[in-house]
Amino acid sequence: MQKESCIFCKIARKEVPGHIVFENETVLAFLDLSQVTKGHTLVIPKQHADNMYDLSPEQAQDVFATIPQISRALQQETNAAGMNLLSNTGKVAGQSVSHFHLHLIPRHDKQDGFSAKWEVHNDEYTAEELAELANSIASHI
Ligand code: AMP
Ligand code: ZN
Repeated sequence: MQKESCIFCKIARKEVPGHIVFENETVLAFLDLSQVTKGHTLVIPKQHADNMYDLSPEQAQDVFATIPQISRALQQETNAAGMNLLSNTGKVAGQSVSHFHLHLIPRHDKQDGFSAKWEVHNDEYTAEELAELANSIASHI
């Protein structure tokens, strides 16, 4: 299903122009207008899903199946030293467009325009607490 008002559905329907780098029956990849680093690309399922909670297994499979190919093309084009794959779900995580998308962000160095703050809390959990947490999460699956 597509959503009439959704900007990414509009790009998928070619009602709004996008700088398309890859397309198949179910997936579209196009340049992010913000170009956090050169080549910054978004990969979406053509069918609307608000976020990753909403994604069907088939959509997830289709989208992720394209990632190695697209990331290799980006690496070759930009000569990136690395790549970040990112999905923001929910406002608190930075999601601004409610159509599931994966960011592919070519990386060059720590000052290239992208950073993810990453605090470690290893010493705050015992092995027993981690085991309990893993079991508890698993019980929801
Ligand atoms: P997020 O903040 O994770 O939801 O990412 C949404 C991204 O979509 C942002 O990085 C925007 O720059 C990008 N964006 C919004 N509108 C467009 C558009 N029409 N074409 C390409 N990228 C867009
Ligand atoms: Zn949409």
